[in-house]
Amino acid sequence: MRYNAFQILKQGLSGHKGWKPMWRDPEPKAEYDVIIIGGGGHGLATAYYLAKEHGITNVAVIEKGWIGGGNVGRNTTIFRSNYMFPANTHFYEKGMKLWEGLEQDFNFNAMVSQRGVINLFHSDPQRDAFARRGNAMRLAGVDAEFLSPDQLKEMVPILDFKNARFPIQGGLMQRRGGTIRHDAVAWGFARGADSRGVDIIQNCEVKDIVIEGGAAVAVETSRGKIRGKKVAMAVAGHTSQIAAMAGIKLPIESHVLQAFVSEGIKPLIDTVVTFGAGHFYISQSDKGGLVFGGDLDGYNSYAQRGNLPMMEHVMAGGMAIMPAIGRVRLLRHWGGIMDMSFDGSPFICKTGVDKLYLNGGWCYGGFKATPASGWCYAHTIAKDEPHPLNKDFTIERFREGRMIDEKGVGPNPWIQ
Ligand SMILES: Cc1cc2nc3c(=O)[nH]c(=O)nc-3n(C[C@H](O)[C@H](O)[C@H](O)COP(=O)(O)OP(=O)(O)OC[C@H]3O[C@@H](n4cnc5c(N)ncnc54)[C@H](O)[C@@H]3O)c2cc1C
Repeated sequence: MRYNAFQILKQGLSGHKGWKPMWRDPEPKAEYDVIIIGGGGHGLATAYYLAKEHGITNVAVIEKGWIGGGNVGRNTTIFRSNYMFPANTHFYEKGMKLWEGLEQDFNFNAMVSQRGVINLFHSDPQRDAFARRGNAMRLAGVDAEFLSPDQLKEMVPILDFKNARFPIQGGLMQRRGGTIRHDAVAWGFARGADSRGVDIIQNCEVKDIVIEGGAAVAVETSRGKIRGKKVAMAVAGHTSQIAAMAGIKLPIESHVLQAFVSEGIKPLIDTVVTFGAGHFYISQSDKGGLVFGGDLDGYNSYAQRGNLPMMEHVMAGGMAIMPAIGRVRLLRHWGGIMDMSFDGSPFICKTGVDKLYLNGGWCYGGFKATPASGWCYAHTIAKDEPHPLNKDFTIERFREGRMIDEKGVGPNPWIQ
């Protein structure tokens, strides 16, 4: 079913009784060409692009809970492509370009809002680092703008320019960045994949990966054994657990990251702002809530909830740049499980086990990568070799000393 103005009119006139479910609820088949473990953004996007770009439709996405219940529906919805190192810049810029046409592509409103992302800087060395990053972006064809304090005052008047503990010296802005309604991304990709024949199987936990003759051939699940000619992992925070089922040890740790939403208030911030002297990022949702977050809780966990010390730390970061928000009440908060890789960059690659593929290590920045990740992972699975855009996102880079040491918070985090 296509979604358009005519459909709304037609359904409206017939009492809204004709809307169809957005995806089916099929029983698992005995065998698939590709089994994707994990119905998050990356797993669903991979299934969508496998079907759309490579004509591989005999695909199952196996999700232990419900789609959108993981990080894809728990993040703070920011997307951008303001990375510095070539391996990251071109990959995230591919993501940016896909986001720009995504809603038309999968015929679903994901509320893609290119409201801009501003990274504040607070010291001379940080200004130099941000200038270097902006220049590198522009040389790679990515948009970047340097903002003076006067420009910032006009754009984000709520910032504290007078008494801040870390005076704001300016900002690096990417205007094409912004926010996207996170769970709509999962629903859009799920709907698009399902309509092309992909089976989305919810409430089905993968318990083991079956390996025969050095190749992955099946998964054992809570709903029985399902054979697959290829098996692809896309489980974000559970990456090291699932990889261990195939005997693979990864340089990944799982940590909790929290997100916070305030009560709805009148429009206050019409862009995304990040604090450069700590870790705090904020935007305002279309319903009026301030959506913000900060750093990891700092201990390993698989719990999707955080603790009070980090909550206080995040609030302090917010108060340091915009004290006015201290009077706003917090409405809700939650946690998600981050698959933190040791260099801050992801994996989209083959593994040492034949027919077993890896997508993970997204840290706290994988939402923005969702379409590019699915697109490149689909290519890697279909062709059995990486696309040039993800050729550096291997496990071997740690063995070979070719780490892509960019945490996504800026190229020189030590300067802060
Ligand atoms: C609070 C918070 C804020 C964030 N903010 C941002 C942001 O602003 N911008 C940004 O770019 N990124 C952000 N991120 C990171 C981003 O959300 C993640 O990197 C990304 O969503 C991870 O990929 P995914 O969507 O596929 O993960 P998920 O949605 O977590 O998908 C993985 C799925 O695998 C399933 N699974 C796990 N084990 C099994 C199993 N055994 N069998 C079957 N299924 C299994 C899980 O249930 C889950 O649904 C944030 C994350 C959090 C938690």
